[in-house]
Amino acid sequence: MEERPDANIDYDTAIKYWSSVPATVDGVLGGFGESVVPKVDIVGSTTFLRKISPTRDSQGQPKNGLDIGAGIGRVTRDFLSRECDKVDLVEPVESFVEQAHKELASLKEKGKVGEIYQVGMQDFTPEEGKYWLIWCQWCVGHLSDDNLVEFFKRCIKGLQPGGWIVVKENNTKYEDDYDEVDSSVTRTDVKFRQIFERAGLDLKLTMLQKAMPKELYPVRMYALKPKEA
Ligand code: SAH
Repeated sequence: MEERPDANIDYDTAIKYWSSVPATVDGVLGGFGESVVPKVDIVGSTTFLRKISPTRDSQGQPKNGLDIGAGIGRVTRDFLSRECDKVDLVEPVESFVEQAHKELASLKEKGKVGEIYQVGMQDFTPEEGKYWLIWCQWCVGHLSDDNLVEFFKRCIKGLQPGGWIVVKENNTKYEDDYDEVDSSVTRTDVKFRQIFERAGLDLKLTMLQKAMPKELYPVRMYALKPKEA
């Protein structure tokens, strides 16, 4: 049998790798912090969210967001805190969590940021029915296919009625690609769709991120909702 690239995934290697990276935007973006990437990323995410939820309907509930693999809180600071009433974060690396507390201090004072959970997503269970939007960006490659399916199943339980899961990740073209440096797997679009299907998620909309530097992997956004029972 062919070896699955995701069989090599090792959490300790990933944590060691990310702990050695500066707790800056440039660090979490792999050296692209000064490029167009952070700006076009936020514009692309905002456009995408407007498309899936133009009226920002939350059926009377608070629009709680959850930022998965949050790094230093870049996505929360520049995007999710504008779109949600309050955002919680999940991030396992201590130095990033410390920096996130600093980056988000004023938003926290305003009540726009809630908890920052220092834990890997494989060990995290969202509070049931809490979230309007669970945003997973540039981190799901740190879980094997099977563990990612289980993670999404827990996220489904964490959604409010009408809530969304969005996945924003690099895509490979032909096959999944294991990176031994940070112990992560970059997946094909086909693989992502199989994983969503296994988790019981319906893909409602998907778009490629525009205007990324050519030397990077294409970045794709997926808007997902639990399948109707
Ligand atoms: N989403 C952020 C950070 C991307 S960098 C942004 O776009 O700015 C990738 C992040 O995934 C790092 O912060 C890293 O520590 C985190 N990560 C690594 N392994 C993880 C795991 N098992 N669970 C959750 N996050 C993880």
